[in-house]
Amino acid sequence: MPAPRSESLRAAAGLPSLPPSGMMRCSPRSVPFLLRDFDPMYLVTIDNEHCDGCGQCATSCPSQIISMVEGRAQVTGDASECLGCESCVIVCARGGVSVQEY
Ligand code: SF4
Ligand code: SF4
Repeated sequence: MPAPRSESLRAAAGLPSLPPSGMMRCSPRSVPFLLRDFDPMYLVTIDNEHCDGCGQCATSCPSQIISMVEGRAQVTGDASECLGCESCVIVCARGGVSVQEY
């Protein structure tokens, strides 16, 4: 028999209160799981030794997190906005950009 959702019945049975409707039960242990499965993060690395300043990676980034600074590409935006699309990797003819999921 399923546990009652009525607060008075739950109290009578010695069961803990349910969270208010609309709230999700979430333990600290479930947070890394949720982040990993639904909100992957990406680390974008630009090797300026290989960068010739063409600007293609900055132009191709849909999240606009790469900019040209003094003629070299840099991640200047919010890195958490990276979509992991790898457009920046593909357009860089010099192999100067890498993207890793973590
Ligand atoms: S695409 Fe490559 S070479 Fe061009 S600016 Fe970006 S990192 Fe530099
Ligand atoms: S992987 Fe996509 S979103 Fe992330 S920095 Fe490169 S182009 Fe931008």
